[in-house]
Amino acid sequence: MVTVTLTHAGDVAVITIDNPPINATSHSVRAGLVNAVDQIEQDASLKAAILICEGKTFIAGADVTEFGQPAQDPILPDVIKRLEASPKPIIAAIHGHALGGGLEVALGCHYRIADISAKLGLPEVTLGLIPGAGGTVRLPRLISTENAVSMITSGKPVFASAANEMGLIDAITHGALIDAAKDFAKTILDQPCPTPLVDRVPVDALNNDQWQETLASVAKKARGQIAPQIAATAIRTGIEKGAAAGLMHEREKFIELRDSDQSKALRHIFFAERSVAKLPDIDGVKPNSLNEIGVIGGGIMGAGIATASLLAGFDVKIIERTEDACASGKATVEKHLAGSLKRGLITQDRFDGLIASLSTSMDYADLGNADLVVEAVFEDMSVKHDVFGKLSAQCKPDAVLASNTSYLDINEIAAKCVNPQRVIGLHFFSPAHIMKLLEVVRTNKANAKSLATAFAFARKLGKIAVPCGVCDGFIGNRIMSAYRKHCEYMLEDGALPHQIDNAMVAFGFPMGLFAMQDMAGLEISWAARKRRAPFRDPSERYVALGDYLCEMGRFGKKNGFGWYRYDENGKALPDPNVDALVIAESTKKGITRRNFTDDEIIETILSAMQREGDKILAEGIANSPDAIDVVMINGYGFPRHKGGPMFWQA
Ligand code: NAD
Repeated sequence: MVTVTLTHAGDVAVITIDNPPINATSHSVRAGLVNAVDQIEQDASLKAAILICEGKTFIAGADVTEFGQPAQDPILPDVIKRLEASPKPIIAAIHGHALGGGLEVALGCHYRIADISAKLGLPEVTLGLIPGAGGTVRLPRLISTENAVSMITSGKPVFASAANEMGLIDAITHGALIDAAKDFAKTILDQPCPTPLVDRVPVDALNNDQWQETLASVAKKARGQIAPQIAATAIRTGIEKGAAAGLMHEREKFIELRDSDQSKALRHIFFAERSVAKLPDIDGVKPNSLNEIGVIGGGIMGAGIATASLLAGFDVKIIERTEDACASGKATVEKHLAGSLKRGLITQDRFDGLIASLSTSMDYADLGNADLVVEAVFEDMSVKHDVFGKLSAQCKPDAVLASNTSYLDINEIAAKCVNPQRVIGLHFFSPAHIMKLLEVVRTNKANAKSLATAFAFARKLGKIAVPCGVCDGFIGNRIMSAYRKHCEYMLEDGALPHQIDNAMVAFGFPMGLFAMQDMAGLEISWAARKRRAPFRDPSERYVALGDYLCEMGRFGKKNGFGWYRYDENGKALPDPNVDALVIAESTKKGITRRNFTDDEIIETILSAMQREGDKILAEGIANSPDAIDVVMINGYGFPRHKGGPMFWQA
């Protein structure tokens, strides 16, 4: 297949890559590029070249079908050397994304111009790798070490405007990219070809202390992931030992990391996230068109869901109970959007437009045009029934009606609705406008059209949608309940809250279970436990420590005391009073306390997750172990580089 073509525009050559969908650096592209540069060099009528891509993007990464295959010549590092060695300047004209090998190709060119909406990045660390085609060596010869370290070790792409400010690109364009590239070419035709990056000195140098500081900060952010630190060391090697040594070191480390457990885990989750929403029975089913979204309840979740829907381009109507609640819901949405404005994610014009697309009401009759409605009212079955009764009466017969309930039986909610086949669950995570995960809950009667519409909605919101069945807590909360129980057992058996939390943090969780409970507040789950108390199986082991804390008025971080006590800066400190309470409870129950090592704590938590995961699979609640991994990583802080509880092996 021909993926690279060469045309002439006067004395400028235009090399065009056309390798959909992402113009990956497949073998045919690599070979085509070398061939094109050879031809340009030999053609005396040509003075410079433009490298541009067809379709939606510049080169946005490697060809995943070549993963795990033996490398076929020419390999990417050699292709980039060839571009760089061209005596005639090559201008990379970037639109869409220049990612990974794509940005490394652009770094091999002599100039880079980019469309205003383009994004550039080296995301290899997100797959447990480092750039393998010179990125760690060339980037700090173009931009400051600090910026290079930040881009490479975070893996986060930057917008064209930021790239321009840091010197990564030479110009930003607003109009047709090819015309801008041709205009740019005219300005450099009579200038000598710039020195290739590998032959330049690094932009700046850090001293030993600065490097130690940088490496420590990278390690802290990486939370156990090895690739970011190896990437930072590769950058340092390229700067301090020269480009040739740097390139060799980088390639060696890249190959080593490719076979590492962490990279395997990160690649596993990368592919799992992209396949998990694919359901054969809705394949080809046309979703309803979506323009207006209704949100019932403007509380924490409702306001977040409304914000996410506005940002995805929908008109949104929030229904609340009182004028004050309407105003408060609207104010929360405005606060979220103001945050996006402040961070530069949206412009003032867009902000104004989004606010204009939001309305509130106390009258369900105003939902007559809504195509999909998400209910986010109090977690109480009678309130949910009341709301769905009104929605059944007032919404279009084919409007999809979704509940954001955390635990309630959505089949029971659907049973009392007109057209129950359009009732589903959409379980968002807090904050709903930020968290990527969305559990799409399939009720017994849900039809393919409603499900297809729900997945289309999720896609528009940019969420990772995981299909699941109805059960107490769906996938995530159910697994969380199971491992929480085992953490509580460990308290009575000999561990202390901070010990369990420390082991979890050392494993890679952002925080431990007890610190997380303190942050969420202990009184809500206390109320739920009190409600469920009459129905509890008396033979089941019950740990009452959380109840005792609430009885003592320790509701968590917000009032300074919970599983921890909090200093005036909000820092959690182990509390000897809580330790004493835990130890006294063991004594009361006649349990001889024993020591738990960190490994044992993790083993206990992980096997509880896996056992519950197996049950969830056996009951058909999750479609695959991958679905469980995706949920726990994206909603519950499970460390991504461990691949998820079902992938993980001790
Ligand atoms: P919240 O108390 O912050 O908000 C609930 C809102 O619903 C209130 O503003 C209330 O005025 C409104 N409301 C109550 N009855 C109503 C009615 N009949 N009509 C219109 N509005 C009504 O609660 P929340 O935390 O946003 O939770 C809402 C739902 O989302 C619950 O089912 C909860 O289980 C679920 N959920 C919560 C979280 C979370 O982290 N908070 C996460 C996932 C799911």
